[in-house]
Amino acid sequence: MKSTPGARVASEPSGDRVFATVGPELLDAIREAGPRRVVLEVPAGLVRDAHSLAAKLREGTGVAVDVAARPCFGACDPPQRDEAPRADLAIVLGHSPIPNVPTDRRTFFVEMRSPVGDPDTLAQRVRAADLPSRLGLVFSIQHMDLLAPLSTALERRGFTVRVGRGDRRLAYAGQALGCNYTGAEELAAEVDAYLFVGTGRFHPLGLAFAVEKPVWSLDPARGELESPIDRGALVRRRQLLVASTRDARSWGILVSTFRGQNRSPTALALQARARARGLEAEILLASRLDPADLLGRNLDAYVNTACPRIALDDSSNYPKPVLTPPEFLMAIGELPLEPYRFDTYH
Ligand code: SF4
Repeated sequence: MKSTPGARVASEPSGDRVFATVGPELLDAIREAGPRRVVLEVPAGLVRDAHSLAAKLREGTGVAVDVAARPCFGACDPPQRDEAPRADLAIVLGHSPIPNVPTDRRTFFVEMRSPVGDPDTLAQRVRAADLPSRLGLVFSIQHMDLLAPLSTALERRGFTVRVGRGDRRLAYAGQALGCNYTGAEELAAEVDAYLFVGTGRFHPLGLAFAVEKPVWSLDPARGELESPIDRGALVRRRQLLVASTRDARSWGILVSTFRGQNRSPTALALQARARARGLEAEILLASRLDPADLLGRNLDAYVNTACPRIALDDSSNYPKPVLTPPEFLMAIGELPLEPYRFDTYH
């Protein structure tokens, strides 16, 4: 398997690297780096494989490998110094680097690229469903290798395909990140619909919040094409939640200490705006946010400056309403409810 040198990496001088999968090239690079100890971090979906992968790395390199028990949600929350103090190399599986988030120790990102999906068959499936002819393509990192061949196959079938570059939080053009769909957003005037290529609902949901055109989802492994999510219903649910906080007098402002989720300046600015309106606003610090930590607090509502998806996907797990920063500004009357603004993490 090939490494993916095209990725933007924040801290080249520290020796961070990007690999397509766990293979000989990664093992060679670990041996070459000569770490004393490695910490392996995996996303929740790969926890089952974590220990066999750790064994593979140990046996293939002769280096000691520890496994981080905390699953990683993204390249935004790699193992912190105090979570793995003895490791001088981190291996993060399933994520690309976030280029504007520097790492604090040498880190190898293994994107777990998947070779599944025949571009012609997939393009034919899209053609048969009669999608609008001007399409913006967005990919999960695992399926980025389909970008070029699928674009060509779609163009051969009469589609005009666009791929956005996005901002410095995205390692690749055309990439979806749950907190940043700037590549898709920049295509708004050029496309009539978006085609997300990947599995699951996480990205189609985020993309539906971020853009105002229909988002179709193509699962390259199953060859299944899903109709667009009802964006109006998603937005109305959030607007109702915003409306429920209109009388909130005391706010908790949630701040993550993970370096790729830390928006302290945003939190301080929101606190100042709340106080200027006579509201109480307290900053609450956490690394990984746990709904149980918010139980029993004498606060009316929260605004979350950590991962935007905590508010959008998990708010029902929390004891009080949890809004995104733009929603908070709607709640205190500084932004209109329409148009709805996705909380893009730049
Ligand atoms: S902030 Fe959230 S959506 Fe963004 S990379 Fe981290 S876990 Fe993913």
